Amino acid sequence: MALSIYPDDVLIVVDVQNDFLPRGNLAVADGDAIIPLINRLAKKFTNVVLTQDWHPADHISFASNHPGKAPFETIELTYGTQVLWPDHCVWQTRGAELADKLDIPHAQLIIRKGYDRAVDSYSAFEEADRLSRTGLSSYLRERGLSQLYVVGLATDYCVGWTALDGVVGGFDVTVIEDATRGIDNAGSLDRAWADMADAGVKRIASRQILD
Ligand SMILES: [Zn+2]
Repeated sequence: MALSIYPDDVLIVVDVQNDFLPRGNLAVADGDAIIPLINRLAKKFTNVVLTQDWHPADHISFASNHPGKAPFETIELTYGTQVLWPDHCVWQTRGAELADKLDIPHAQLIIRKGYDRAVDSYSAFEEADRLSRTGLSSYLRERGLSQLYVVGLATDYCVGWTALDGVVGGFDVTVIEDATRGIDNAGSLDRAWADMADAGVKRIASRQILD
């Protein structure tokens, strides 16, 4: 039996931006394959929130800003271990724009994250220093939205961290697995699913909603 979506449920569409799609600067394999599915899912929801990774060119998460370092190596920062990435989602570039084929005109909020050069932000709720809040929790609470469905890119980073922080914030969180794709850097995808399961994040397939 299909899962019912209610008017006070919310779909969070994480980082479906050009740089995370094939030919983008930080392409997630098959990242574009989920867009038609996300568009279909979004039609079931009254409330949709989009997120947008949004970095200055000198962002601390870019390997290019750390001489001698290559993408996917890590460094230690005051807030913990940081994976270094290829330059991606630099604000006001084509790569940072939401995917052209995303068709969700009724989305009401776009949360931008990672705009502070010194702090990365995978989660839609708070930045990686665990101090800077995006305001999403308050937005959801003020509007009485407590059931979150999360889709987008990438499963093992921004989707996973958003789902985990959603649980910490007291929300009921479900990830729609086939409407996400992962990067899988050194086992990160398996780890993300294990962490989400431990935290109580639900994992479903889109057909449970769309059938
Ligand atoms: Zn980023």
